[in-house]
Amino acid sequence: MLDIDKIRKDFPILNRKVNGKPLVYFDNAATSQTPQQVIDVIVDYYSNYNANIHRGVHALSQEATDKYEAARLTIQNHFNAKHAYEIIYTSGTTESINLVAHGFAALLNKSDEVIVSALEHHSNIVPWQMLCEKTGATLKVIPMNQEGELDMVVYAQLLSNKTKLVFVNHISNALGTINPIESIIKQAHNVGAAVLIDGAQACPHVKPDVQALNVDFYVTSAHKMCGPTGVGMLYGKQEWLEKLPPYQGGGEMIDQVSFEKTTYAGLPHKFEAGTPNICGGIAFGAAIDYMNTVGFETIANYENELLKYGTEKLLEIDGLKIYGTAKNKTSVISFNLDGIHPYDVGTLLDKMGIAVRTGHHCAQPIMDYFKIPGTIRASFAFYNTKQEIDALVEGIKKAKMMLS
Ligand SMILES: *Cc1c(COP(=O)(O)O)cnc(C)c1O
Repeated sequence: MLDIDKIRKDFPILNRKVNGKPLVYFDNAATSQTPQQVIDVIVDYYSNYNANIHRGVHALSQEATDKYEAARLTIQNHFNAKHAYEIIYTSGTTESINLVAHGFAALLNKSDEVIVSALEHHSNIVPWQMLCEKTGATLKVIPMNQEGELDMVVYAQLLSNKTKLVFVNHISNALGTINPIESIIKQAHNVGAAVLIDGAQACPHVKPDVQALNVDFYVTSAHKMCGPTGVGMLYGKQEWLEKLPPYQGGGEMIDQVSFEKTTYAGLPHKFEAGTPNICGGIAFGAAIDYMNTVGFETIANYENELLKYGTEKLLEIDGLKIYGTAKNKTSVISFNLDGIHPYDVGTLLDKMGIAVRTGHHCAQPIMDYFKIPGTIRASFAFYNTKQEIDALVEGIKKAKMMLS
């Protein structure tokens, strides 16, 4: 059982008011809130041992290096990577995907094919389009159905020995669909293709095991799982990380530099040019520790309760339609009110202190599929409550009366 009163005390921001009303924060799919335990780690870093890492002999530099590398081990353990050097620190999911797409430009040619899904975030579409433009490779799309589930029959048909890469999100940020990634990975491997899973939306809800999944690349951002913005990770299997060329040149990623020839550092430093987000990396580790203390099973059970309750309550509102009704989904509810623009509802809800997201959620192809300009999205985290869902439902009813 999750002790919600105790949990809510960990998040100072949940005490604040917005427009004179208690904050109801339902924009967790865009970014999560930060517990005091993680804020303390950030304050401690800048108060006590702020220094550049890996190159100093002095005490502060060594302390910062130790904590930064300890956080890498925390991330490795959490995702069950075989080696710590298979965890590459990045600025987040977007950079992780770009790093892999950049690397594959050197490995693909005109006759190759890559497969993406119709459910993707723009950051898991555009880098691959750029890759296809550069290499002449062809981009194929796994379609989805009205429920927001991927069509696995078409997926099987798209795969061939021309397929070199498949990239799919673990959980859709726009609809909440949990994709059958185990099966997607297995089938891709059967034709010799590599798989990248975008885990940005999954990591706040589940604990992925990259070895059990046998996935080639898994990427995520810290800020969606109680950590700070501007830091994230790329997990890559050693053999793939060795095959890919470096992403950026600079300090830290080199072995020897001369004007005649430069040799690159080994993993993970080959992909970590320049001074990284040191404090962010350490805080990422603290966020993972925090979430594991709460427990992912406890989180999943509680959030499923919120999802069930929220879905039932929202569907009681006349003219409200939910987009994304997959059997297997997480605590994200995308919806619209008949004849009312999502933006207008979002603006009125904000006046009542309720934070939801409106728009295309960086997934325009999904909105095109449903022929809508966007949705209102309420995304729940383990620190939200049923009372807050009641406030949302009341707010929507009020907004509806004002707008119709
Ligand atoms: C948030 C999100 C991203 C982008 O993450 P950034 O932290 O902005 O790089 C990519 N994919 C999914 C599914 C997301 O939810």
